[in-house]
Amino acid sequence: MPTNVASSGIFLDGDWVDPQGEMLQVQDPSTGDVFAEIANGTPAEIDAAVAAARRAADGAWGRMTAVERGRILRRISDLLLENVAMLAELESRDVGKPLSQAKADAEAIARYFEFYAGATDKIHGETIPYQDGYTVYTLREPHGVTAHIIPWNYPLQIIGRSVGAALAMGNAAVLKPAEEASLSSLAFTEIACEAGLPAGALNVVTGIGESAGAALASHAGVDHISFTGSVSVGRLIQASAAENVVPVTLELGGKSPQIVFDDADLDAAMPFLLRAGIQNAGQTCSAASRILIQRTIYDEVVDRLASAYDNLRIGPAPTDPDVGPLISAQQKMLVERLVKEGEGRGNQVVTKSPLNADVPANGFYVRPTLFGNVGGLDPLAQDEIFGPVQIAMPFDTEDEAVSIANGTDFGLVAGVWTRDGARQMRLAKSIRSGQIFVNNYGAGGGVELPFGGIGKSGHGREKGFEALYGFSVLKTIAAYHG
Ligand code: ADP
Repeated sequence: MPTNVASSGIFLDGDWVDPQGEMLQVQDPSTGDVFAEIANGTPAEIDAAVAAARRAADGAWGRMTAVERGRILRRISDLLLENVAMLAELESRDVGKPLSQAKADAEAIARYFEFYAGATDKIHGETIPYQDGYTVYTLREPHGVTAHIIPWNYPLQIIGRSVGAALAMGNAAVLKPAEEASLSSLAFTEIACEAGLPAGALNVVTGIGESAGAALASHAGVDHISFTGSVSVGRLIQASAAENVVPVTLELGGKSPQIVFDDADLDAAMPFLLRAGIQNAGQTCSAASRILIQRTIYDEVVDRLASAYDNLRIGPAPTDPDVGPLISAQQKMLVERLVKEGEGRGNQVVTKSPLNADVPANGFYVRPTLFGNVGGLDPLAQDEIFGPVQIAMPFDTEDEAVSIANGTDFGLVAGVWTRDGARQMRLAKSIRSGQIFVNNYGAGGGVELPFGGIGKSGHGREKGFEALYGFSVLKTIAAYHG
């Protein structure tokens, strides 16, 4: 499979082209070693990518029937599945992601393409009863050129939910992967090409956010922007979209709670409480970084969590540890600073997982940290940390739990653990969040399940059928025939 993924990052109009700009070094987070290079895309290359996408949207790709489009997406899905091992190895090395998580991500992108392949011919408009003498109906049409600016934490999965859904609706795509982790985007591109995706339907420009990303987000030829990343960059993207008056989908992370009541099945809950915090070393938009625990069981739950933290295996991604390194030296420094500041404000450190002596010295490892008794207004309870850090917060009543859960600027995901059915229903209504999970957390990824936030977690919905509506424009036709 991919041969040149380590040396080129510009894919325009169906071809890999020689990069015009400088090359950027790619580090292996597990060791700190440089192991590949990618191109730092230029505004001219972004221009060319948007132009190629426009030709495809107006040409062969845009005119293709839904059935044919679906068949191509299905071939992409099949080829992705055949290449799960290769993709997992690449993603694991590039992101520092434990191998089994990378494998799950590679399987997930195949599943996204399978889902969206099956959906292409099942999206339709409506007929609307209207005045005498009229026939009125709606059509769902593609936007045209869609921009996809994605982060480094789950590149494969985010390509699946973003590029996959956009292509399914007949849009052309320009993908700008994160500079820290672009390699799986390039491998995916080779696979899509081999599966017969027509030239221009997908174009890829790697490079730095402030240059390549900004050039794409502000490009007047882009009809829709899909962005996953930080709140600060999300604001810039939305400002660019406003300038060009184009729709934008923003997925900006969160400070998601899991709420544990004293009637919960704790044996079922414990693995979720832990995993949702330390999966991908906590570098997950939907990480459950806050654990709200009813006071009557607070000590028991915190003790059990602490012993799980003490037994975590932390190590290089290829050894498939529980927790791998963070993505970069910069992210490691940031997370360690936020933990130190949290300690400095007098917050209780329940435990920090030990690092094995044989962890590579230049890898970007941090010790997973569990804080206890954190107050609702402390920055540890308010700010997204994007590292393996969780806080435990006690509560007494259901009302108090809801008020703490809703007490941040974010609203992406929440988990509720209780056997009381009426309480499950009340919390599902009163918690402000894009997704609520009852007696589970994350539902195993759920390609079919609409996903997105409220508040500073962003807006618009990805995944499931809902994503297809976002990647389409509704046209109303009113025909008068007397
Ligand atoms: P993270 O905090 O996860 O690194 P960022 O928001 O910095 O998230 O990055 C997410 C994506 O946005 C990456 O592809 C990055 O290159 C891109 N990006 C960063 N800055 C900008 C910008 N000013 N304009 C457009 N894209 C950007």
